Amino acid sequence: MRTKQIEELDRRLIWHPFTQMKDYMGEVPLVVERGKGSYLVDIYGKSYLDGVSSLWVNLHGHRKKEIDGAIRKQLDRVAHSTLLGISNVPAVELAKELVQIAPAGLKKVFYSDNGSTAVEIAVKIAFQFWKQKGNGGSKHTFLSFINAYHGDTIGSVSLGGIDLFHETYGALLFRVYRAPYPYCYRCPLERTAPACGMECLNQVEEILSTRHEEIAALVIEPMIQGAAGMITSPKGYVKEIRELTKRYNVLLIADEVATGFGRTGRMFACDHESISPDLLCLAKGITGGYLPLAATLTTEEIFNAFLGDYRERKTFFHGHSYTGNPLACAAAVANLRVMKEEKVLEKLEEKIRFLSTALQKYRRFEHVGDIRQLGMMVGIELVLNKATKEEYPFEDKVGTRVIREARERGLIIRPLGNVIVLMPPLSMSQDELSEMLSITYDSIKAVTSSGLR
Ligand code: PMP
Repeated sequence: MRTKQIEELDRRLIWHPFTQMKDYMGEVPLVVERGKGSYLVDIYGKSYLDGVSSLWVNLHGHRKKEIDGAIRKQLDRVAHSTLLGISNVPAVELAKELVQIAPAGLKKVFYSDNGSTAVEIAVKIAFQFWKQKGNGGSKHTFLSFINAYHGDTIGSVSLGGIDLFHETYGALLFRVYRAPYPYCYRCPLERTAPACGMECLNQVEEILSTRHEEIAALVIEPMIQGAAGMITSPKGYVKEIRELTKRYNVLLIADEVATGFGRTGRMFACDHESISPDLLCLAKGITGGYLPLAATLTTEEIFNAFLGDYRERKTFFHGHSYTGNPLACAAAVANLRVMKEEKVLEKLEEKIRFLSTALQKYRRFEHVGDIRQLGMMVGIELVLNKATKEEYPFEDKVGTRVIREARERGLIIRPLGNVIVLMPPLSMSQDELSEMLSITYDSIKAVTSSGLR
């Protein structure tokens, strides 16, 4: 197909996710044809740095030899067989690796194929667990956070707290309790960390102490709320949450779909505060960003509550057609091997330091209100007025305008509202990181000094 024909068909046939199609159909689409390392190449041969790891999934760059090879090798054996009642070799190998690297106590692996289902499964397991422990289903709801994002299925949307994405579906959702996440830049209590002593934890405790008999689990994006705009929590917050959930006999579900596999500088975000959740949700980076795969890990105690005579109906009746897909699991095994053999986490420390030093320069911008970073996850919050923290109006699309500028300059990024997100592959070199930062700098400058307001 010729380039113009591809573009025309794309606009005519494909409904793109999280995309206002009225705008999209009026623009020339960027159609990727291939990739190598940190770059993606479009159908015209133009290269772009992949500054968001193809939506937070890619870890070692595109066309990583070891992962390509593992998939090809598995393809010569079998592409897919079911995990319902039977097994496959890569799924077993991967489970062994996951249990080894996961926070202590997580011993069982339930596969699915995306982050939303990993969370959906954790929710169903937590609910059924309490039921089968004999509490008669009174623990029927959850505690999640304002501005949380856990995926796009109805269960994960019920936990979500981003009005723009979730409000529309209100009538379809189950009700949950919601606590404020520590968004220190815009602290609702108007306090400053660490002097505040994390006063906001009182609100979590208030809900848990009065409602724990109804709450099956607390669900958190540990250390950093991703889709909310890369909102980092203060040191010690996640540890306190773990303590509170134990105290009030509520399970802890850690959604590490975005943070897992080194993205924050540690294998898992939970590792920063040495905590183990009762359920851990993984997806995105699990295959190094190659194929759709997810896993929900849990403890022996939870697993055991599902054992019983068949007639007792304690079985977990959940499973997707592609659960534990062998090609995806083979990619994931190869991904973990690369992490280990190339000492990816060790090498990351220097890059993370480099990023945080280089980002200081952005603070000088009149319209950069806050810069947040955890490992290789960065959020640059643009504001209309730095002194008052007044936000740019939604309809100004300031984030979208910045990423458009960046695209012209050869960088693919995506905003979250007025927050510019940088999430490069862990393998991005220092020179490439510099290139990404300098394009982002120029793009922010072009938009925020363009007389927008
Ligand atoms: N949880 C978190 C924390 C996420 O960031 C995301 C996706 N951005 C999801 C769940 C949903 O994952 P998926 O898009 O694979 O369904």
